[in-house]
Amino acid sequence: FGLIFKRDVMQRVNFLIRRPEFIQYLNKRNFEEPLLMERMGPDGSLSLMLQAFPFGQKRHLLLVQDVTDLQKADAMRRDFVANVSHEIRTPLTVLSGFVETMQTLELADADRDHYLGLMAQQAERMQSLVSDLLTLSKLEGSPAPNRQGLVLTSQLIDKCVADAQGLSEVLAGGSHRFTSDVSHDAQLAGSVDELSSALGNLLSNAVRYTPAGGRIDVRFEVLPDGSANLSVTDTGPGIAPEHLPRLTERFYRVDRSRSRETGGTGLGLAIVKHAIQRHGGQVSIRSDLGVGSTFLLHFPADRVRRVNPHLR
Ligand code: ADP
Repeated sequence: FGLIFKRDVMQRVNFLIRRPEFIQYLNKRNFEEPLLMERMGPDGSLSLMLQAFPFGQKRHLLLVQDVTDLQKADAMRRDFVANVSHEIRTPLTVLSGFVETMQTLELADADRDHYLGLMAQQAERMQSLVSDLLTLSKLEGSPAPNRQGLVLTSQLIDKCVADAQGLSEVLAGGSHRFTSDVSHDAQLAGSVDELSSALGNLLSNAVRYTPAGGRIDVRFEVLPDGSANLSVTDTGPGIAPEHLPRLTERFYRVDRSRSRETGGTGLGLAIVKHAIQRHGGQVSIRSDLGVGSTFLLHFPADRVRRVNPHLR
């Protein structure tokens, strides 16, 4: 409220706090419900909850609580529920449309098979959404992985690249060219499932957004200070700079239709970011429109154990 004790003591409170909703609240003289005041503070970013309580004789005590974070969390929760409902509603509408068609029309075998194929696609879409949502909630609700599990980077990369080649086979007839470059192998301390999920999501994005025939390079290097970078670079369409800061938000998509057509849920990069942050690392994205994108995972030195190549 910007009150200064020396200057304001013994002033009438309705002179000091002049917001109409506050004056109204005082005048009503019914303080059973609290009053929420939004857009407060010097830059209008605070939400305050206040309530007056009887205190001594003919006095009131005004309790004020900063509920900015609570309000933000509440808004995020509402957005999230709205987003999830929206994501599920679309395939569900399509699916029930086909069910109705099949119930009411006599269909030739070929048509029926075609419809069943489309229905299976929509069911799959809902399945991937639920599976990504569960992955995210597991990442949020469990303690960070300890350092006991050790994941050999070259193995992690080989496995994820093989999966990505499989996806490329389905989406682009296997026309993407993959390279992997591990200058010095190392073990990453953490969870193999989470690291595979992070790298897997980046590679799946690279395949899904890079046109047929494009190149996808995976690179791992240990830096002189013992930390390490794991990156995926593609020769896809690139991403305009204004999108980059929001890319890891849940359901944020640049190209909605490309994402949907290729089975995207809009949650992949949110999963990557969570998984990497749980390993003390960071995700950064560099991209040039028309040239391609690099998604880089940086791991701190205390998660990286160098492997002596001669001992392997
Ligand atoms: P989605 O399931 O939609 O791919 P992600 O969270 O994995 O969700 O990615 C968010 C958005 O970032 C995508 O919808 C896409 O617009 C953009 N994106 C991600 N990876 C790439 C990439 N390699 N090249 C171009 N755009 C990408």
